[in-house]
Formats: sequence, C-alpha cells, structure tokens
Amino acid sequence: MNFFGKLSNAFHIHLGKTRKKSIPAHLKGIFRRRGTGCNALSEDCAEPVVVLAGNPNVGKSTVFNRLTGLRQHTGNWAGKTVETAEGFFRYGGRRFRVVDIPGMYSYTPRSAEEDAALKFLLSGSADAVVVVCDAGCLRRGIAFALETAELTRSIIICVNLTDEAERRGIHVDTRRLSKILGMPVIPASAAHGKGMRELEECIAGECSKVKPPAHSGISAPEEQKPCDAACAASRRILTADAVCEQCVVRDKANSRSKLDMKLDRIFTGRITGRVCMLMLLCAVFWLTIIGANYPSEWLAEIFSRLEHPLRQRLDFFSAPGFIKNMLVEGVYRVMTKIISVMLPPMAIFFPLFTLLEDSGYLPRAAFNLDSCLHKCGTCGKQALTSCMGFGCNAVGVTGCRIIDSPRERIIATVTNSFIPCNGRFPILTALISMFFLGSAAPPFDSVLGAMMLTGLICLGLAASFGVSKLLSVTLLRGTPSSFALELPPYRKPRFLSVIIRSALDRTIFVLGRAAAVAAPAGALIWITANIRIGGASLLNIICQFLDPLGSLLGMDGVILTAFILGFPANETVIPLMIMAYMAHGSITGSNDTAAIRSLLLDNGWNVSTAVCVMLFTLMHWPCATTCVTIYRETKSLKWTALSIIIPTLTGCVVCAFAAAVMRALGIQ
Ligand code: GDP
Repeated sequence: MNFFGKLSNAFHIHLGKTRKKSIPAHLKGIFRRRGTGCNALSEDCAEPVVVLAGNPNVGKSTVFNRLTGLRQHTGNWAGKTVETAEGFFRYGGRRFRVVDIPGMYSYTPRSAEEDAALKFLLSGSADAVVVVCDAGCLRRGIAFALETAELTRSIIICVNLTDEAERRGIHVDTRRLSKILGMPVIPASAAHGKGMRELEECIAGECSKVKPPAHSGISAPEEQKPCDAACAASRRILTADAVCEQCVVRDKANSRSKLDMKLDRIFTGRITGRVCMLMLLCAVFWLTIIGANYPSEWLAEIFSRLEHPLRQRLDFFSAPGFIKNMLVEGVYRVMTKIISVMLPPMAIFFPLFTLLEDSGYLPRAAFNLDSCLHKCGTCGKQALTSCMGFGCNAVGVTGCRIIDSPRERIIATVTNSFIPCNGRFPILTALISMFFLGSAAPPFDSVLGAMMLTGLICLGLAASFGVSKLLSVTLLRGTPSSFALELPPYRKPRFLSVIIRSALDRTIFVLGRAAAVAAPAGALIWITANIRIGGASLLNIICQFLDPLGSLLGMDGVILTAFILGFPANETVIPLMIMAYMAHGSITGSNDTAAIRSLLLDNGWNVSTAVCVMLFTLMHWPCATTCVTIYRETKSLKWTALSIIIPTLTGCVVCAFAAAVMRALGIQ
C-alpha cells in the first residue's frame, strides 16, 4: 500500500465528490471551533473546504477576516499565527468553509498545528488551497506555491499586499503569472478589501470543478530523502526566480526601501536600538498614565453616584438587607472598582501596543534583545513571546509555539509570567501614583510615573532573563539555538481598525473576564468579611493567619489573602484588598485614588509596603487561565507546577530581601 493509501486508511477518509470526513480525535482538537459553525474537520460537512496557506506575515489572517467577517488577530511579524482558525463565507447561494492555517516557509512541520495542517492538505480534504503571497516578495511565495502544487491540485494564488508593493516600486503582471504557472492568480490588497470579490468567485469556480481522486500522482514530502528534498527545494527556488523575472518589474529608484534601511539602522543599532526601545516603552506608559487618570476618576464618580439609585431599586423590590448589602457593597463595588481602574489604561495601552505591532516594530525589539537572551542560554524569539505576555500571559504562553527547540520553548513558557500582563498593570500604576508621585507637579508626575513603570517592567524582564539563565544551566541544559528572524517592512498602521480591533478583541475581552470573576469574588469576600466566628470575621481569621508570612515579605495578611483570592484573575487583587480592609473601615469621598490611599495608610501601609506589593505583583504565581494554558501547551504537570513555584519563590525571596534592606535603611 502506498503512503496515501495508508494515510487515507489511518484517517478513514473516503474521498469522492461529497465525502464524509472522520478524523482522529487529536486532529479534531487541533482544528477546533473558532467563531461560528461546526468544526472544519467534523463529520458530515458537505460545504467545500478552502484552506488559506502561505508564508508568515503575507496577510493570510487579513484575507481570512475579509472573507469570513471574523476578527482573527493580525500583526506585522512572522510567526504571529500559531493556531488554526475557521469561518465561512457565502457566494452564489453556497456556503464555503475557510480554514486559516499557521504560516509556513515550507512543508516541514515544526508544531502539532503545522503537522495537522500538512496532513490535512495531504489527505486531499481541501477542495481548494489559496496560497497567499506577498507581492513585494513574490519569489518566496511562488516557491511555496510550487511546493503546494506537489501536494494538492486545486490551487489559487492570491498576490496580496499589491498596494504596498506598488508604493515600493514593485509591479506584478498577474495575468502573465497565471499563464506561466497554469493556475488562477488574483491580485489583492486585503487590508483595503480589494480583490476579495474576485477571490470568492475564483474559489467558487475552483470548488465546482470535478477533480480526480486526490491521492493519484502526488508524492508526499516524507518519502523524499533529505538530499532529494534539498534538490527539490533549490529547483523550486530557481523556477520561482525564472517566473518572477518574467512577471515582476521593479522601478530603479526605490525611496521606501532606503527609508526602511535608515529606520533599521536606528531601531536595530547596538546602542540606538536599545535607547529607542526604552524610550518607546516609556512613551507608551506615559501616554497610558496621563490619559487614564481623569477618565478613571470620572468613572469612579459616576459609579459612586449610581450606588444610591441602585440601593433604592433594591429597596423597591424589598430585597432582604443581607442580599442588598452583598450586592451593593460586594458585587457592585468590586465590579465598578475594576472597571474604573482598568478600563481607561487598557483602552489606551492596547491600541498603542497594537500600533507598535502593526508598524512592524516588535520584531526589531526581539532583534535588540536577542544577544541578551542568547547569553541567558535561550533564544531571541522569547522576546516576542514576552511582548505578547504584556497583553495577557496566557497569550504569551500560547505564542511560545513559535520557538522550535522544546528546551527553549519550556524556558519561555515558565518565565512568561514575569512579564506583567494587563491585569497587573493597574496594580502597578495605582501604587506608583498613590505612593510615589505625590510631591511631583504635573506633567512631571506622569513622566516620573512612566519612568518608574518602565523600570519595573525592566526588572520583570531581568528576572525573566535571570531565571532563564538559571534554568538553562540546571534543569534545561543545552546550547541556545540560532534562528532566522524575519524583519518585516515598516507599515503604516491602520489607525481606525487598530482602535476598533484592540477595543473589541482585547479591552472588552479582558474586562469581561475580570468582571465575570470579580462579581462572584466580590460576593464571596463580602460573605467571608461578614461571617463571624467567635467575634472575628472569617476573612479576618484568614488574614491574621497569613499575617506573619505577609510581614516577613514586607506586606501583611490582607495583601497575601488578596493575591491568593485573586488567583482567578489578577485584576481583582486591589479591589479584594479594599474589600478586606473595608471590613474595618470604608471608602468615602469622590476622589477615589486619595480615598484608597488613606484607607491603605490607615491600615499600616507605607512606602516600603508599596514597594514590596509592586515586587510581588511582578513575581508571583500566574493567574488560573495562564496555568491552564501552560498545562495545555506543555502537557506536563511538572512544568505547570514549576511555572507556579519558580516565580512565587523568586517573588518571596526578592520581597523578603527588599523588606529587610528597607527596614535596615529606615525607609517607611
Ligand atoms: P499573516 O501573518 O499572514 O496572517 O498576516 P496578517 O494578516 O497578520 O498581516 C500582516 C500585516 O500585513 C498586518 O500588519 C496587516 O495589517 C498587513 N496587511 C495585510 N494585508 C495587507 C494589504 O493588502 N495591504 C497592506 N498595506 N497591508 C496589509
């Protein structure tokens, strides 16, 4: 039996015009549901299946979003798409299923997703494969299309990013290209929606053609010897070169490429690169701090005014006093606190960060940090996964799939939680503004705040690098791998879409998750604060139990309890502390920050406590979602446990040390 016979049997795929696809469970898991509709590889799917394939960063996700109307994450760097997404579009009354697979340079799978994607293509289950190419770098795209043609027969080439190529003086004769390759070629500019209708039409036409059985005459890459594979690859490159020679015309003077080179000299220079990186980080935080201050106060004011009508409404429904207090003082206050503290900074930080991502800056930052990471015995791509961790550590951990070496992938996974995610930013910014900016006059207070926050982030990065080094010389010994990092061209970010995308995809998502956790947490902590055992509340008893450990770490029992109860989501830590302290006092007045500050001071806080809380915020266990993601990615209880233990131990040691030093120096 030939390879395809075996493969068809293994996958129980019955090929034919309308086929039923029965796929092993592990593949079903990989091609999981995203967006609407049923699974791409589920049984009884009669719609034509269209696969979007191509090199990384050629605009596949943008094409996918345009076709399906979904909002798959896009970003200007290679390796951003690590998961398969699926959606649908309709054309001529017919429904087409679109599967977006991770970007690949060749069909040599490096991850479970890519392996599954390759097997899916080999199985012949795709009715059409759209190979998306970058018009500005057509040679590589054509070579990939030629390789795809060895695996499957219904290929459509979508030459995307034509607008950008034209601006750089690169013109592609797509008709000629189609004639030479004998495949349909559609020019497109997916970001502007150009060529999408033509692409849909072409897909519909291709899917309605009657095809011969998929396994006849196709050779699988696994059957080739390495030297054959290398020969075939160079043959494809030569063919692609010859094809491009005939179809691509370049203008002689190309000012855009020169500008890119000049910018790269600054952004990736040995000294200038690092200085620019720090300044950009500082600028992002500064804008976040100055922009978030007032809206936070306004929101707090609005919410505190709404509390009275809410009580009246509950009175109207004759709600019992216990329920009323729990809903208003527990659920409502914690939730509104989270919204007023988190929403403004997130609504500013996420779009700014997405603009950096869209402009192509992130890979430059990874490039700047590469030598540093190499010295720590790990790989430069970890800088990218760390950047992803800024938004959400769970996303950063999933992003570690872009790292090929298993050893380095685990190091990046375990150390990702040293990067403060968006749930932890508000704790840092709130404490900085409450305890360190009092004497500085505006606008110096915000500049000072941004510098302090940048310093803390650098500390988190340093801790992550230090632990990486430690792991690479102990548990995960090995030589750091070299890697090729593709620096994408600088792109003008699409401001409107960035704002909408980051508002909808990130801000609302993170806020929704925090609020969903905060509501029951608020109720729970109110209950624990109000259940009395022997004269003391349950919360008090827990806090007192943890007090000695808390004091050793420069904090107190309430703070430790808040961190522990905040395990489902870090966003809840400050509201939990407030709730716990409020068991003795209460917040009054409309100036929220000042009220929280005096509440904390009343409960024994000082500068030293604030420093230790900030350090512990940077270094403690990852949140529940991240822990689940770590287990899902590593499939190992040992590494999941170590991902919790290592940052927690580091945090305890650092806090105890800092507290002892500050005590010795008399800093209070
Ligand atoms: P993928 O990695 O192949 O999925 O690529 P993405 O869809 O994430 O796109 C990579 C970058 O190219 C993003 O910054 C997109 O905004 C940008 N992009 C995609 N298509 C176009 C296009 O047609 N024109 C321009 N100018 N930019 C595009």
